[in-house]
Amino acid sequence: MIRRIDLRGADRGSASTIDYRAAVPRAEFDIEAATHAVQPIIDAVRDRGYEAIAEFSEKFDGVRVDDIRVPAAALTKALDELDPAIRAGLEESIARLRTTCAAELEKDAVTDLAPGARVTHRKVPVGRVGLYVPGGLAPLVSSVLMNVVPAQVAGVPSIALASPPQKANPDGFSGGLPQPTILAACALLGVDEVYAVGGAQAIAMFAYGVSAGSTSGGCERVDMVTGPGNIYVVTAKRLLKGQVGIDSEAGPTEIAILADETAEAAYVAADLISQAEHDPLAASVLVTDSETLAADVEAELDKQVAATKHVERIRTSLTGAQSGIVLVDDVDQGIEVVNAYAAEHLEIHTADAARVAGRIRNAGAIFVGSFAPVSLGDYCAGSNHVLPTGGCACHSSGLSVRAFTKSIHVIDYSREGLAAVKDHVVTLAEAEDLPGHGAAVSVRFSS
Ligand code: NAD
Repeated sequence: MIRRIDLRGADRGSASTIDYRAAVPRAEFDIEAATHAVQPIIDAVRDRGYEAIAEFSEKFDGVRVDDIRVPAAALTKALDELDPAIRAGLEESIARLRTTCAAELEKDAVTDLAPGARVTHRKVPVGRVGLYVPGGLAPLVSSVLMNVVPAQVAGVPSIALASPPQKANPDGFSGGLPQPTILAACALLGVDEVYAVGGAQAIAMFAYGVSAGSTSGGCERVDMVTGPGNIYVVTAKRLLKGQVGIDSEAGPTEIAILADETAEAAYVAADLISQAEHDPLAASVLVTDSETLAADVEAELDKQVAATKHVERIRTSLTGAQSGIVLVDDVDQGIEVVNAYAAEHLEIHTADAARVAGRIRNAGAIFVGSFAPVSLGDYCAGSNHVLPTGGCACHSSGLSVRAFTKSIHVIDYSREGLAAVKDHVVTLAEAEDLPGHGAAVSVRFSS
């Protein structure tokens, strides 16, 4: 079912002879087409606020939402009714994330360059953030934690969160609100500003803000939007970048696995399936130098996929152009391939996994060895699961405390400190033909 891409015997003499990024294609999602769909949504939310949001919720989520702001009582009720086993899982995940986030906190860098010449690189949390939690194909309660915990540890004073409204269901859920477990997780973390808004309309709401109306509360604009989402969410983040800050383009999931003959085929297949389960556009890529492992994984996929709940979605993803088994000559070539591909998630199942991991430059997160599956990172590793996709891991990082923190240089010089460099400033200003710059220094020493 999954296709093979054979890169064995490629001329590896010079980096320019083989373009591994092109050899391992990504999902054929058409950002152009998504832009045509998303730009009018953004414009409508900017111009008509919550009324436009209500129309899009009805159209895309199939539910009418009169008030986009989730009432406090709904958050409390969701937490009261939360299954204790789910609560225990959330609490463990929160505790681990808080520990890693606390270790990521950076101190101000204070540098005394000379007497009376100090520069401080001060760390300041972003003032107000809008966190997106997916709820289309699956209600990603784990994404509540992955967004909220680093924002809280960074010290962000104002946190809002949005997730798509769900339809009523026979279990007694009346509809029009995000999925109850998502609400419960918000309550558990003390997040009380929650919106029943999904997709591109949520990102536009955060970027522009919307006023309160006759039936609905409003939402103040935010400084930065973070969180994962589907093609419409990612496109909205791309289009609104600048109007609002964004973390990274954390779109449809990708897993790459670099494995040799020591890998356990059943584990490799299960991990490829686990990410294909997210989205028909998800990518699952195995890179191996072992023909035997490739055949064993194919057999395992046939067996395991048939037994999964979301079999159609998984088949579509695994048989799509974005998924495949890539055959390479050796692990060294495999490392070149995965570095060029820059996967959101990279698992390493080789004899010397830790050493191989040390040679990886481009990946959203690296999972080392047979007992660190991506599913662990999705929920409970203590790492963050909001990670750059589409090759963006070659320049962007996953969500962390740092994403919610800005830095400001604070320049604190005395007369003595300035005097020591004043002649250099004047000379350099003249070299740039900006004498006013030099004069602004000279005037302080003219009498
Ligand atoms: P979602 O909440 O991202 O998207 C649902 C919303 O999409 C709906 O509320 C609707 O408004 C909008 N929508 C649906 N069809 C539309 C259309 N035709 N036009 C305009 N808008 C439309 O939920 P999802 O769909 O389940 O996607 C979640 C995504 O998040 C998956 O692709 C998953 O792989 C990804 N994900 C990524 C990461 C990461 O860090 N990269 C982590 C977790 C999940």
